[in-house]
Amino acid sequence: MDTKFYVDVEDLYGAHNYHPLDVVITKAKGIWVWDVEGKKHLDFLSAYSAVNQGHCHPRIVKALTEQAKKVTLTSRAFRNDQWPMLAKELCDLTGFEMVLPMNSGAEAVETAIKAARMWAYQKKGVAQDEAEIITCENNFHGRTITIIGFSTEPLYKKDFGPFTSGFVTVPYGDIDALEEAITPNTAAFLVEPIQAEAGIILPPEGYLRKAKEICEKNNVLFIADEIQTGLGRTGKLFACEYEGITPDVMIIGKSLGGGCYAISAVLSSRGILGLFSPGSHGSTFGANPLACAVARESLRVIKEEKMIENSAQMGEYFLEKLKTIKSKHIKEVRGKGLLIGVELHPEADGARQFCEALKDEGLLCKETHENVIRFAPPLIIKQKELNWAFKRIKKVFKKLE
Ligand SMILES: *Cc1c(COP(=O)(O)O)cnc(C)c1O
Repeated sequence: MDTKFYVDVEDLYGAHNYHPLDVVITKAKGIWVWDVEGKKHLDFLSAYSAVNQGHCHPRIVKALTEQAKKVTLTSRAFRNDQWPMLAKELCDLTGFEMVLPMNSGAEAVETAIKAARMWAYQKKGVAQDEAEIITCENNFHGRTITIIGFSTEPLYKKDFGPFTSGFVTVPYGDIDALEEAITPNTAAFLVEPIQAEAGIILPPEGYLRKAKEICEKNNVLFIADEIQTGLGRTGKLFACEYEGITPDVMIIGKSLGGGCYAISAVLSSRGILGLFSPGSHGSTFGANPLACAVARESLRVIKEEKMIENSAQMGEYFLEKLKTIKSKHIKEVRGKGLLIGVELHPEADGARQFCEALKDEGLLCKETHENVIRFAPPLIIKQKELNWAFKRIKKVFKKLE
Protein backbone atom coordinates (compact mmCIF):
# COMPACT_ATOMS: atom_id res chain seq x y z
CA MET A 1 0.00 0.00 0.00
CA ASP A 2 1.42 3.40 -0.93
CA THR A 3 0.97 6.90 0.44
CA LYS A 4 -1.90 7.74 -1.89
CA PHE A 5 -3.90 4.74 -0.71
CA TYR A 6 -3.79 5.80 2.95
CA VAL A 7 -4.38 9.45 2.14
CA ASP A 8 -7.46 8.55 0.13
CA VAL A 9 -8.89 6.23 2.80
CA GLU A 10 -8.25 8.78 5.53
CA ASP A 11 -9.82 11.60 3.56
CA LEU A 12 -12.88 9.50 2.74
CA TYR A 13 -13.65 8.17 6.22
CA GLY A 14 -11.88 10.55 8.61
CA ALA A 15 -13.19 14.03 9.47
CA HIS A 16 -11.04 16.73 7.90
CA ASN A 17 -10.25 18.73 11.02
CA TYR A 18 -6.51 18.74 10.20
CA HIS A 19 -4.47 19.54 7.09
CA PRO A 20 -1.56 17.09 7.45
CA LEU A 21 1.45 16.82 5.20
CA ASP A 22 1.02 13.77 2.98
CA VAL A 23 3.60 11.58 4.66
CA VAL A 24 2.22 8.32 6.05
CA ILE A 25 4.38 7.22 8.97
CA THR A 26 4.52 3.55 9.82
CA LYS A 27 7.59 3.30 12.07
CA ALA A 28 9.65 5.57 14.30
CA LYS A 29 12.71 5.50 16.51
CA GLY A 30 14.33 8.39 18.37
CA ILE A 31 14.34 11.43 16.11
CA TRP A 32 13.62 9.45 12.94
CA VAL A 33 10.38 8.27 11.32
CA TRP A 34 9.84 6.04 8.29
CA ASP A 35 6.97 6.33 5.83
CA VAL A 36 5.08 3.50 4.12
CA GLU A 37 7.34 3.80 1.11
CA GLY A 38 10.43 3.18 3.21
CA LYS A 39 11.70 6.76 3.14
CA LYS A 40 13.34 8.03 6.32
CA HIS A 41 12.56 11.50 7.71
CA LEU A 42 13.82 13.60 10.59
CA ASP A 43 10.96 14.55 12.91
CA PHE A 44 11.30 18.26 13.51
CA LEU A 45 7.91 18.69 15.23
CA SER A 46 7.88 15.97 17.92
CA ALA A 47 4.08 15.70 17.78
CA TYR A 48 3.74 19.29 18.97
CA SER A 49 6.30 18.54 21.73
CA ALA A 50 4.53 15.41 22.99
CA VAL A 51 7.53 13.26 21.97
CA ASN A 52 10.29 15.26 23.67
CA GLN A 53 11.99 12.02 24.75
CA GLY A 54 12.15 10.75 21.15
CA HIS A 55 9.94 8.15 19.48
CA CYS A 56 9.52 4.76 21.13
CA HIS A 57 12.11 5.47 23.80
CA PRO A 58 13.18 1.96 24.86
CA ARG A 59 12.81 2.65 28.58
CA ILE A 60 9.36 4.21 28.18
CA VAL A 61 8.20 1.39 25.88
CA LYS A 62 9.46 -1.10 28.46
CA ALA A 63 7.55 0.66 31.25
CA LEU A 64 4.46 0.65 29.02
CA THR A 65 4.61 -3.01 28.05
CA GLU A 66 5.51 -4.24 31.53
CA GLN A 67 2.69 -2.29 33.12
CA ALA A 68 0.31 -3.44 30.35
CA LYS A 69 0.86 -7.02 31.49
CA LYS A 70 0.11 -6.19 35.12
CA VAL A 71 -2.86 -3.85 35.39
CA THR A 72 -3.98 -1.04 33.07
CA LEU A 73 -7.15 0.44 34.49
CA THR A 74 -8.70 0.46 37.92
CA SER A 75 -10.69 3.73 37.81
CA ARG A 76 -10.50 5.94 40.86
CA ALA A 77 -13.21 3.85 42.51
CA PHE A 78 -10.21 1.84 43.74
CA ARG A 79 -6.59 2.75 44.26
CA ASN A 80 -3.59 1.49 42.30
CA ASP A 81 0.11 1.34 43.10
CA GLN A 82 1.29 3.64 40.28
CA TRP A 83 -0.67 6.87 40.81
CA PRO A 84 0.60 7.61 44.34
CA MET A 85 4.20 7.20 43.15
CA LEU A 86 3.70 9.43 40.11
CA ALA A 87 2.07 12.09 42.31
CA LYS A 88 4.99 12.01 44.73
CA GLU A 89 7.65 11.95 42.02
CA LEU A 90 6.01 14.86 40.18
CA CYS A 91 5.90 16.92 43.39
CA ASP A 92 9.51 16.03 44.24
CA LEU A 93 10.60 17.06 40.74
CA THR A 94 8.65 20.31 40.50
CA GLY A 95 8.35 21.51 44.08
CA PHE A 96 4.54 21.65 44.02
CA GLU A 97 2.50 20.14 46.86
CA MET A 98 -0.34 18.38 45.05
CA VAL A 99 -1.31 17.00 41.65
CA LEU A 100 -4.62 16.37 39.91
CA PRO A 101 -4.27 13.92 37.00
CA MET A 102 -6.24 14.06 33.74
CA ASN A 103 -5.72 12.73 30.21
CA SER A 104 -5.55 15.46 27.57
CA GLY A 105 -4.12 18.93 27.84
CA ALA A 106 -7.50 20.56 27.34
CA GLU A 107 -8.93 18.57 30.23
CA ALA A 108 -6.13 19.77 32.48
CA VAL A 109 -6.81 23.38 31.43
CA GLU A 110 -10.51 22.87 32.24
CA THR A 111 -9.46 21.43 35.59
CA ALA A 112 -7.26 24.44 36.36
CA ILE A 113 -10.19 26.74 35.52
CA LYS A 114 -12.44 24.75 37.87
CA ALA A 115 -9.80 24.93 40.61
CA ALA A 116 -9.40 28.69 40.19
CA ARG A 117 -13.15 29.31 40.30
CA MET A 118 -13.57 27.07 43.32
CA TRP A 119 -10.74 28.90 45.08
CA ALA A 120 -12.32 32.27 44.23
CA TYR A 121 -15.65 31.27 45.82
CA GLN A 122 -14.33 29.37 48.80
CA LYS A 123 -11.22 31.38 49.67
CA LYS A 124 -11.28 34.79 48.02
CA GLY A 125 -14.95 35.41 48.76
CA VAL A 126 -16.14 36.14 45.23
CA ALA A 127 -19.94 35.94 44.95
CA GLN A 128 -21.28 32.77 43.27
CA ASP A 129 -21.04 32.77 39.46
CA GLU A 130 -19.19 36.10 39.39
CA ALA A 131 -15.62 34.79 39.06
CA GLU A 132 -13.57 36.13 36.16
CA ILE A 133 -10.49 34.67 34.55
CA ILE A 134 -8.13 36.82 32.48
CA THR A 135 -6.66 35.24 29.35
CA CYS A 136 -4.37 36.54 26.59
CA GLU A 137 -4.95 37.43 22.96
CA ASN A 138 -3.73 34.72 20.55
CA ASN A 139 -3.76 32.13 23.32
CA PHE A 140 -3.97 28.41 22.67
CA HIS A 141 -5.21 26.23 25.50
CA GLY A 142 -7.06 23.45 23.69
CA ARG A 143 -10.34 22.75 21.95
CA THR A 144 -13.22 22.36 24.39
CA ILE A 145 -16.17 24.74 24.13
CA THR A 146 -15.06 26.70 27.22
CA ILE A 147 -11.47 27.00 26.02
CA ILE A 148 -12.26 28.04 22.44
CA GLY A 149 -14.76 30.49 23.93
CA PHE A 150 -11.86 32.58 25.22
CA SER A 151 -9.72 32.05 22.11
CA THR A 152 -9.26 35.07 19.82
CA GLU A 153 -8.76 32.91 16.70
CA PRO A 154 -11.98 33.06 14.63
CA LEU A 155 -11.20 29.71 12.95
CA TYR A 156 -11.29 27.91 16.32
CA LYS A 157 -14.69 29.40 17.27
CA LYS A 158 -16.76 29.74 14.12
CA ASP A 159 -20.11 27.91 14.37
CA PHE A 160 -19.33 26.48 17.82
CA GLY A 161 -21.09 29.01 20.08
CA PRO A 162 -22.64 29.75 22.52
CA PHE A 163 -19.66 29.85 24.85
CA THR A 164 -18.93 29.88 28.58
CA SER A 165 -18.98 33.30 30.26
CA GLY A 166 -16.54 34.62 32.87
CA PHE A 167 -13.48 35.25 30.70
CA VAL A 168 -11.72 38.51 29.85
CA THR A 169 -8.99 38.96 27.22
CA VAL A 170 -5.93 41.22 27.38
CA PRO A 171 -3.07 41.68 24.89
CA TYR A 172 -0.19 39.26 25.51
CA GLY A 173 2.89 40.96 26.91
CA ASP A 174 1.03 44.10 28.02
CA ILE A 175 1.46 44.43 31.77
CA ASP A 176 -0.67 47.58 32.12
CA ALA A 177 -3.58 45.92 30.35
CA LEU A 178 -3.40 43.03 32.81
CA GLU A 179 -3.40 45.37 35.79
CA GLU A 180 -6.37 47.31 34.42
CA ALA A 181 -8.38 44.16 33.71
CA ILE A 182 -8.23 42.95 37.32
CA THR A 183 -11.41 43.45 39.34
CA PRO A 184 -12.41 42.21 42.81
CA ASN A 185 -13.97 39.24 40.99
CA THR A 186 -10.78 38.16 39.22
CA ALA A 187 -9.91 34.60 40.17
CA ALA A 188 -6.94 33.96 37.93
CA PHE A 189 -4.68 34.99 35.09
CA LEU A 190 -4.14 32.14 32.61
CA VAL A 191 -1.04 32.47 30.43
CA GLU A 192 1.43 30.57 28.24
CA PRO A 193 5.03 31.56 29.09
CA ILE A 194 5.72 31.37 25.35
CA GLN A 195 2.79 31.34 22.93
CA ALA A 196 3.77 28.35 20.83
CA GLU A 197 0.71 27.83 18.62
CA ALA A 198 0.44 31.58 18.01
CA GLY A 199 3.84 31.43 16.28
CA ILE A 200 6.49 31.04 19.02
CA ILE A 201 5.73 34.43 20.53
CA LEU A 202 8.08 35.36 23.39
CA PRO A 203 6.71 38.02 25.73
CA PRO A 204 8.89 41.04 26.62
CA GLU A 205 11.52 40.24 29.23
CA GLY A 206 10.18 40.74 32.73
CA TYR A 207 6.54 40.38 31.66
CA LEU A 208 5.87 37.10 33.47
CA ARG A 209 7.69 38.24 36.58
CA LYS A 210 5.71 41.50 36.72
CA ALA A 211 2.47 39.67 35.95
CA LYS A 212 3.15 37.33 38.86
CA GLU A 213 3.78 40.31 41.15
CA ILE A 214 0.54 41.98 40.08
CA CYS A 215 -1.37 38.74 40.65
CA GLU A 216 0.10 38.40 44.14
CA LYS A 217 -0.71 42.02 45.00
CA ASN A 218 -4.34 41.53 43.94
CA ASN A 219 -4.89 38.04 45.33
CA VAL A 220 -5.25 36.58 41.82
CA LEU A 221 -3.95 33.12 40.91
CA PHE A 222 -1.22 32.95 38.28
CA ILE A 223 -1.88 29.88 36.11
CA ALA A 224 0.85 28.83 33.67
CA ASP A 225 -0.05 26.57 30.76
CA GLU A 226 3.25 24.71 30.21
CA ILE A 227 1.68 21.86 28.28
CA GLN A 228 3.93 22.59 25.31
CA THR A 229 6.76 24.65 26.85
CA GLY A 230 7.24 22.42 29.89
CA LEU A 231 9.38 19.39 30.68
CA GLY A 232 12.51 20.65 29.00
CA ARG A 233 11.29 21.93 25.65
CA THR A 234 12.62 25.46 26.18
CA GLY A 235 15.88 24.43 27.86
CA LYS A 236 14.57 24.56 31.43
CA LEU A 237 12.19 22.18 33.19
CA PHE A 238 9.61 24.96 32.89
CA ALA A 239 9.80 28.10 30.76
CA CYS A 240 8.64 30.13 33.79
CA GLU A 241 12.05 29.47 35.35
CA TYR A 242 13.61 31.95 32.92
CA GLU A 243 11.86 34.67 34.91
CA GLY A 244 12.43 33.03 38.26
CA ILE A 245 8.75 32.60 39.01
CA THR A 246 6.69 29.76 40.43
CA PRO A 247 3.07 29.86 39.25
CA ASP A 248 0.25 29.18 41.71
CA VAL A 249 -1.09 26.61 39.27
CA MET A 250 0.92 24.78 36.61
CA ILE A 251 -0.64 22.78 33.76
CA ILE A 252 1.37 20.04 32.05
CA GLY A 253 0.60 17.38 29.45
CA LYS A 254 2.04 16.34 26.09
CA SER A 255 5.47 14.80 26.80
CA LEU A 256 4.42 13.83 30.34
CA GLY A 257 3.30 10.71 28.46
CA GLY A 258 6.59 10.35 26.57
CA GLY A 259 4.73 10.15 23.27
CA CYS A 260 3.39 6.77 24.34
CA TYR A 261 0.27 7.66 26.24
CA ALA A 262 -2.07 10.60 26.85
CA ILE A 263 -1.69 12.00 30.33
CA SER A 264 -1.92 15.52 31.71
CA ALA A 265 -1.86 17.06 35.16
CA VAL A 266 -2.52 20.18 37.19
CA LEU A 267 0.12 20.99 39.80
CA SER A 268 -0.52 23.38 42.64
CA SER A 269 -0.57 23.92 46.40
CA ARG A 270 -2.59 22.13 49.05
CA GLY A 271 -4.51 25.37 49.62
CA ILE A 272 -5.88 25.21 46.06
CA LEU A 273 -6.04 21.58 44.89
CA GLY A 274 -6.95 20.56 48.44
CA LEU A 275 -10.33 22.24 47.87
CA PHE A 276 -11.50 19.42 45.60
CA SER A 277 -13.73 17.04 47.51
CA PRO A 278 -14.87 13.52 46.53
CA GLY A 279 -17.24 13.72 43.58
CA SER A 280 -16.47 17.35 42.71
CA HIS A 281 -14.35 16.39 39.70
CA GLY A 282 -13.15 13.24 38.00
CA SER A 283 -12.09 11.21 35.00
CA THR A 284 -12.53 7.50 34.29
CA PHE A 285 -9.08 7.17 32.75
CA GLY A 286 -7.38 9.81 34.91
CA ALA A 287 -4.44 8.38 36.89
CA ASN A 288 -4.81 4.95 35.34
CA PRO A 289 -1.82 2.76 36.21
CA LEU A 290 -0.68 2.41 32.59
CA ALA A 291 -0.53 6.19 32.12
CA CYS A 292 1.17 6.66 35.48
CA ALA A 293 3.83 4.01 34.86
CA VAL A 294 4.59 5.61 31.48
CA ALA A 295 4.69 9.12 32.97
CA ARG A 296 7.03 8.04 35.79
CA GLU A 297 9.52 6.63 33.30
CA SER A 298 9.05 9.59 30.93
CA LEU A 299 10.07 11.99 33.72
CA ARG A 300 12.99 9.80 34.76
CA VAL A 301 14.51 9.65 31.29
CA ILE A 302 14.21 13.44 30.86
CA LYS A 303 16.25 13.85 34.00
CA GLU A 304 18.68 10.96 33.80
CA GLU A 305 19.47 11.42 30.12
CA LYS A 306 20.00 15.16 30.59
CA MET A 307 17.45 16.16 27.97
CA ILE A 308 16.83 19.59 29.50
CA GLU A 309 20.52 20.47 29.32
CA ASN A 310 20.69 19.13 25.77
CA SER A 311 17.65 21.20 24.79
CA ALA A 312 19.32 24.35 26.13
CA GLN A 313 22.67 23.66 24.42
CA MET A 314 21.36 22.40 21.10
CA GLY A 315 18.67 25.07 21.02
CA GLU A 316 21.20 27.85 21.40
CA TYR A 317 23.46 26.27 18.80
CA PHE A 318 20.67 25.84 16.26
CA LEU A 319 19.11 29.26 16.81
CA GLU A 320 22.45 30.95 16.07
CA LYS A 321 22.95 28.77 13.01
CA LEU A 322 19.48 29.57 11.65
CA LYS A 323 20.20 33.27 12.08
CA THR A 324 23.05 32.95 9.56
CA ILE A 325 20.64 32.06 6.74
CA LYS A 326 20.34 35.01 4.43
CA SER A 327 16.94 35.02 2.78
CA LYS A 328 14.62 37.82 1.77
CA HIS A 329 11.74 35.69 3.05
CA ILE A 330 12.86 35.55 6.70
CA LYS A 331 11.50 38.25 8.98
CA GLU A 332 12.76 36.84 12.30
CA VAL A 333 14.23 33.73 13.89
CA ARG A 334 13.38 33.36 17.57
CA GLY A 335 12.92 30.80 20.30
CA LYS A 336 14.13 29.29 23.54
CA GLY A 337 15.76 25.90 23.82
CA LEU A 338 14.48 23.61 21.08
CA LEU A 339 11.27 25.59 20.53
CA ILE A 340 12.18 27.74 17.57
CA GLY A 341 10.09 29.75 15.13
CA VAL A 342 11.14 31.14 11.76
CA GLU A 343 8.78 33.93 10.86
CA LEU A 344 8.46 34.71 7.17
CA HIS A 345 7.41 37.96 5.56
CA PRO A 346 3.81 37.92 4.27
CA GLU A 347 5.23 38.23 0.71
CA ALA A 348 6.86 34.79 1.12
CA ASP A 349 3.44 33.29 0.31
CA GLY A 350 3.03 31.31 3.50
CA ALA A 351 5.08 28.87 5.56
CA ARG A 352 3.22 25.85 4.20
CA GLN A 353 5.17 25.66 0.93
CA PHE A 354 8.43 25.73 2.90
CA CYS A 355 7.21 22.82 5.04
CA GLU A 356 6.21 20.92 1.89
CA ALA A 357 9.65 21.54 0.38
CA LEU A 358 11.39 20.52 3.62
CA LYS A 359 9.32 17.33 3.66
CA ASP A 360 10.66 16.47 0.21
CA GLU A 361 14.16 16.89 1.69
CA GLY A 362 13.36 14.49 4.54
CA LEU A 363 12.67 17.04 7.25
CA LEU A 364 9.22 17.03 8.83
CA CYS A 365 8.00 20.27 10.32
CA LYS A 366 4.77 22.17 10.35
CA GLU A 367 3.69 25.74 9.83
CA THR A 368 1.91 27.43 12.70
CA HIS A 369 -0.51 30.05 11.50
CA GLU A 370 0.27 31.47 8.09
CA ASN A 371 3.83 32.69 8.33
CA VAL A 372 5.78 30.81 10.98
CA ILE A 373 7.70 27.55 10.58
CA ARG A 374 8.12 25.78 13.93
CA PHE A 375 11.29 23.76 14.55
CA ALA A 376 10.90 21.49 17.59
CA PRO A 377 12.87 18.23 17.26
CA PRO A 378 12.96 15.68 20.09
CA LEU A 379 15.22 16.82 22.94
CA ILE A 380 17.66 13.95 22.31
CA ILE A 381 18.89 15.43 19.03
CA LYS A 382 22.65 15.80 18.57
CA GLN A 383 24.71 18.51 16.90
CA LYS A 384 25.56 16.30 13.93
CA GLU A 385 21.87 15.70 13.26
CA LEU A 386 21.09 19.39 13.57
CA ASN A 387 23.77 20.05 10.98
CA TRP A 388 22.07 17.50 8.71
CA ALA A 389 18.80 19.40 9.13
CA PHE A 390 20.44 22.79 8.69
CA LYS A 391 21.88 21.82 5.33
CA ARG A 392 18.39 20.95 4.10
CA ILE A 393 16.78 24.08 5.52
CA LYS A 394 19.40 26.23 3.85
CA LYS A 395 18.87 24.43 0.57
CA VAL A 396 15.09 24.97 0.69
CA PHE A 397 15.45 28.68 1.39
CA LYS A 398 17.85 28.95 -1.53
CA LYS A 399 15.49 27.06 -3.81
CA LEU A 400 12.46 29.16 -2.90
CA GLU A 401 14.36 32.50 -2.88
C1 LIG B 1 -1.39 21.21 23.00
C2 LIG B 1 -1.74 22.29 23.97
C3 LIG B 1 -2.94 22.24 24.71
C4 LIG B 1 -3.99 21.18 24.50
O1 LIG B 1 -3.56 19.90 24.72
P1 LIG B 1 -4.39 18.66 24.12
O2 LIG B 1 -3.71 17.46 24.68
O3 LIG B 1 -4.28 18.76 22.63
O4 LIG B 1 -5.79 18.82 24.59
C5 LIG B 1 -3.15 23.24 25.64
N1 LIG B 1 -2.26 24.24 25.82
C6 LIG B 1 -1.11 24.32 25.13
C7 LIG B 1 -0.16 25.44 25.40
C8 LIG B 1 -0.82 23.36 24.16
O5 LIG B 1 0.30 23.46 23.43
